[in-house]
Amino acid sequence: MSGISLDDIVKLLNQIPIWRSVSALPKRVRELEERVAALELKPMAKSAATCPLCGGETKTVKVEPNVHFGTMGMQDHTLVCGRCEHIEIRQIDTMKG
Ligand SMILES: [Zn+2]
Repeated sequence: MSGISLDDIVKLLNQIPIWRSVSALPKRVRELEERVAALELKPMAKSAATCPLCGGETKTVKVEPNVHFGTMGMQDHTLVCGRCEHIEIRQIDTMKG
């Protein structure tokens, strides 16, 4: 082994497309996490819920107290999209405005 450094190995790996996409994964995951966090904030902002898949209007078909936080005013709202029939359960904090 003469003169092969970690740098050389990294350079070699960077020439392999798959490795490059793998090394980019942590960044992708962070981007996705940020997008999910942004999506989770949105329902709180407005009461009329839209489908996360198609953007269609959803309607609440079931409301029950949250299993864990029902006593604190949390409710599970089961929403069904009128367009694509996607079903979603959202935790709604009734104690907040
Ligand atoms: Zn939909």
